[in-house]
Amino acid sequence: MIKSRNTNQKSLILEAIKHLDHPTCDEIYLEVQKLNPKIGRATVFRNVKALTDKGILTKIIMPQGALRYDISIQNHSHFVCNKCGKIYDMSYLPNIDLPASTNFAIEDYKLIFTGVCKECQKKER
Ligand SMILES: [Zn+2]
Ligand SMILES: [Zn+2]
Repeated sequence: MIKSRNTNQKSLILEAIKHLDHPTCDEIYLEVQKLNPKIGRATVFRNVKALTDKGILTKIIMPQGALRYDISIQNHSHFVCNKCGKIYDMSYLPNIDLPASTNFAIEDYKLIFTGVCKECQKKER
């Protein structure tokens, strides 16, 4: 019984993230509230963390240090605009040649490109 309720909470969170554009945890919570007002903030935060730990969600650490979330999709990186702060998905992923042996058991890496997005470039002209 408890298990199916948890599954439902997780699917609501995934649903909320699909509606939003790389939301913060608070934005996810506000969206989940619209779908089911009974779910509390702590529950949403706990589930977001659990989904991130499982690799279903990706944590994006913004240049200013804020955390945003995305549903994990292979082969995409992010671009953050320095002018408007919007996050864009980029299909471009450079090849990074990791050294054959390091002292680290590398599992993953995150790339965020920063610059000026197309919309803001238009405004500047
Ligand atoms: Zn911009
Ligand atoms: Zn993304």
